[in-house]
Amino acid sequence: MEKPAIEGGKPVRDNFLPYGIQWLNDKEIKEVVDSLKSNWITTGPKMRLFEEHFKKFIGSKYAIAVNSGTAALHVSTSSIDIKPGDEVITTPLTFVASANCVVYRGGTPIFADIKKNTYNIDPNEIKKKITPKTKAIIPVHFAGQPCDMDEICEIAQENDLYIIEDAAHAIDAEYNGKKIGNISDLTVFSFHPVKNMTTAEGGMVTTNSEELYEKLLMFRTHGISKDAIKRFGKSGDFYYDMKYLGFRYNMSELHASLGIHQLNKLQDFQKRRREIVKIYERELKSIEEVKLPYVKNNIKHSWHLYVIQLELEKLRRDRDFIFKALREENIGVNVHYIPVHYHSYYQKRFGLNKGILPNVEWLYPRLLTIPLFSKMNDKDVYDVINALEKIINFYSK
Ligand SMILES: *Cc1c(COP(=O)(O)O)cnc(C)c1O
Repeated sequence: MEKPAIEGGKPVRDNFLPYGIQWLNDKEIKEVVDSLKSNWITTGPKMRLFEEHFKKFIGSKYAIAVNSGTAALHVSTSSIDIKPGDEVITTPLTFVASANCVVYRGGTPIFADIKKNTYNIDPNEIKKKITPKTKAIIPVHFAGQPCDMDEICEIAQENDLYIIEDAAHAIDAEYNGKKIGNISDLTVFSFHPVKNMTTAEGGMVTTNSEELYEKLLMFRTHGISKDAIKRFGKSGDFYYDMKYLGFRYNMSELHASLGIHQLNKLQDFQKRRREIVKIYERELKSIEEVKLPYVKNNIKHSWHLYVIQLELEKLRRDRDFIFKALREENIGVNVHYIPVHYHSYYQKRFGLNKGILPNVEWLYPRLLTIPLFSKMNDKDVYDVINALEKIINFYSK
């Protein structure tokens, strides 16, 4: 049996393979340079073009570009007026941003446990957490697999709640033939470099509500309303009115320049992600110490992450050790995510403890994300497969 690098053997590859990384080329670079040479270097025609193309791609009425996915979440919780005393239900298996956007507003995030097959928020658990204070639900389409949106929309309707979908993983995903970004009140996307397409930093909110759209626009720039120009007429062209305490979350032309071309390439990126997933499925399904992602049949997966589950009962080492061993092979494995209620801030501020959400707590020590990004070549893919086989075989019981 081949010796793992962590035991002094030779690593599967010489250079480190990250779990996700951007793919940019001359088109984007030229566009950025073109913006730099123009009069508009922030929030101008290219940002508006990017929004136009994005909403066409999604099929939504409106799209608002902002400078991060976190900002997109924050303008969203602001637009529905989350305030102290309000409760918002979300999943514990997510990046902290999905819950932080509630805390920024003084609201209380309430965590509903996940399903053990899809790792997405369980609609039955949402129902149990609803109180008279509940104002909204933030489902997160984990790894790119859409949540049970029919059930979640029904719960929202029955209890008069808003829905903000965190679709940071789910660009190009579909639910029952409908594109994510077009289903509930607000949907949030991220263009961080590890995501399926990037603007370096950036985010987008889509909505079909004109009322929410107007508010999102205001919260993007200091809560300032353009309507003031109408009210004060010609003599007051300079005039504006600050209606809400908004932010400074607008997207620059340089970032939008990247976005325009990345969006054009998204279908090619997605095609490659799906090819890699096919290879993983074919080559990894015989490793019995590992459970591959479960995919529902009424959805189109956008494959932001490839998350495997280690069957700890069949291994002589825990996940943290397997993680280290794979890193030593130069494979950039990762863990998505440390449950939000495990973070010291959440424990202190909201009195949360381990032991309250059995499914996510059972799952967390078994989770491992293996590299998946469109720029991976076949050798990269097989390096991951070989390293995983090597480590799992070596530490199998
Ligand atoms: C990346 C991510 C975000 C935040 O997006 P940023 O652009 O990094 O601010 C929010 N939620 C989830 C689930 C994410 O993966």
